Amino acid sequence: MLSFRFDNAFVRELPGDPVHGPRVREVREAWSPVMPTPVAAPRVLAYSREMATALGLAAGEVLSPEFAQVFAGNRLLPGMQPFAANYGGHQFGHWAGQLGDGRAISLGETVDAVGGRWELQLKGAGRTPYSRGADGRAVLRSSIREFLCSEAMHHLGIPTTRALALLATGEEVVRDMFYDGHPAPEPGAVVVRTAPSFLRFGSFELPASRGDTGLLRQLVEFCIRRDFPHLEGEGEALVAAWFAEVAVRTARLMADWMRVGFVHGVMNTDNLSILGLTIDYGPYGWIDDYDPDWTPNTTDAQRRRYRFGQQPAVAYWNLGRLAGALSPLFADVAPLQEGLAAYVDAYEAAEQDVTARKLGLAGFRHGDDALMRTLQDWMAATEVDMTLLFRALGDLPADPDPQAEAVLFAGAFYDPARREAGWQALQDWLARYRARLAADPREPGARRERMRLANPRYVLRNYLAQQAIDRAEQGDPSGVREVLEVMRRPYEDQPGREAYAGKRPEWARERAGCSMLSCSS
Ligand code: AMP
Ligand code: MG
Repeated sequence: MLSFRFDNAFVRELPGDPVHGPRVREVREAWSPVMPTPVAAPRVLAYSREMATALGLAAGEVLSPEFAQVFAGNRLLPGMQPFAANYGGHQFGHWAGQLGDGRAISLGETVDAVGGRWELQLKGAGRTPYSRGADGRAVLRSSIREFLCSEAMHHLGIPTTRALALLATGEEVVRDMFYDGHPAPEPGAVVVRTAPSFLRFGSFELPASRGDTGLLRQLVEFCIRRDFPHLEGEGEALVAAWFAEVAVRTARLMADWMRVGFVHGVMNTDNLSILGLTIDYGPYGWIDDYDPDWTPNTTDAQRRRYRFGQQPAVAYWNLGRLAGALSPLFADVAPLQEGLAAYVDAYEAAEQDVTARKLGLAGFRHGDDALMRTLQDWMAATEVDMTLLFRALGDLPADPDPQAEAVLFAGAFYDPARREAGWQALQDWLARYRARLAADPREPGARRERMRLANPRYVLRNYLAQQAIDRAEQGDPSGVREVLEVMRRPYEDQPGREAYAGKRPEWARERAGCSMLSCSS
């Protein structure tokens, strides 16, 4: 028998919609009561051991028929109070009004053995008042992508919402994957997401946009009380301290994304977590060849607002929207401006830290940013794999050795002609780098260890996820489990799993799902 201890603070402490059910409507409150829509034949395809353990579940329980029934939305456990959260957002730079959980339904907040709070949420659980014209469902391909990337991100040590399980619904969902007028049925799925809080920047923007300062204040006070209990003070000073912490967490998150080559793809303000977690894995992607202008999102292919290199600046813009939303709580905006300044400072510090860690330096020094920038420019011009290049750099011989270096870096180039053209520039850069290392106190063994902890060997390359998806759509989910297994230890060499560490194969260069993705999830 599954059982959890629930403490449903969100629905207990914040005003809820008096209307029940999924009829689409404008909602003035913070959430709406709505039941998941049952599905035909739920089945667990994969689950996260670590998340199951955190929630006190044994493997046998996750694979029980009861688990599939509950976490596909067919049955409630005692203490569950299903709801969809209300929020708004700036999408692609424009205020979009009320959005809300259109296909995510939270079941409740559990408290684990060590006092950690986990909201349990089903993504793809059916219509809610926020579904607008859509069906509230999710397709298998995007659910696999969210499931895998949530856990991969966690194992990389980067703040993220988590995924407990991936379930097939046994039902089909119709999607026009390429937005070209050819809708087709696809297998449906549900991801069980978990996080201490799913509040977003847009959760605060919505009441502010309506001039509802009362609800805005309630939300802020609730969030501070539940999610930031360590903050002290009161009144404006407390809210300012909270905003500054949100800014700093967001800055650190951006530096982490840049460190590992993650591109979120849809950094709308409704997709930025107030906890500084990576949230809402849609048309995200991972950098193969280093290209700051790359975006995986076909919907954004023209303007590239959410391209890789732009992410820290977009996060700052988003914080500006959040600051604007919070301004009715302040007599003077200076404290909010200080919070924005804290973002700039925190990002600079985090970027310097990432530079030092990726290059294996004991600490950042003036000039190291230029050293890194030169390498990045060279990678972009020469079409070099970011992950492989940095991992190889950790094994650089102490003294110049062209033959060993040719072998070391061979796998990181995508284009032989560009490798040829860029080889001398690499030699020049390596000379600078070695000179810098000579002035660094760290001894080589310790340096290599430090670099391996900053430069993952395994990342969830787009084509790896796509291969798992292709197999799962043919009825074999074992590829999902295999990829998850590899991504559990991204910084370790895993003998026998070299295939997961290679550069993107040529066939994946322009393939849908591998190089480009739509929002049609
Ligand atoms: P996203 O960009 O995926 O974070 O979604 C933006 C908004 O669209 C959110 O309010 C989602 O809940 C909603 N949405 C996306 N897909 C669906 C769907 N299949 N059914 C209902 N709502 C959806
Ligand atoms: Mg979203």
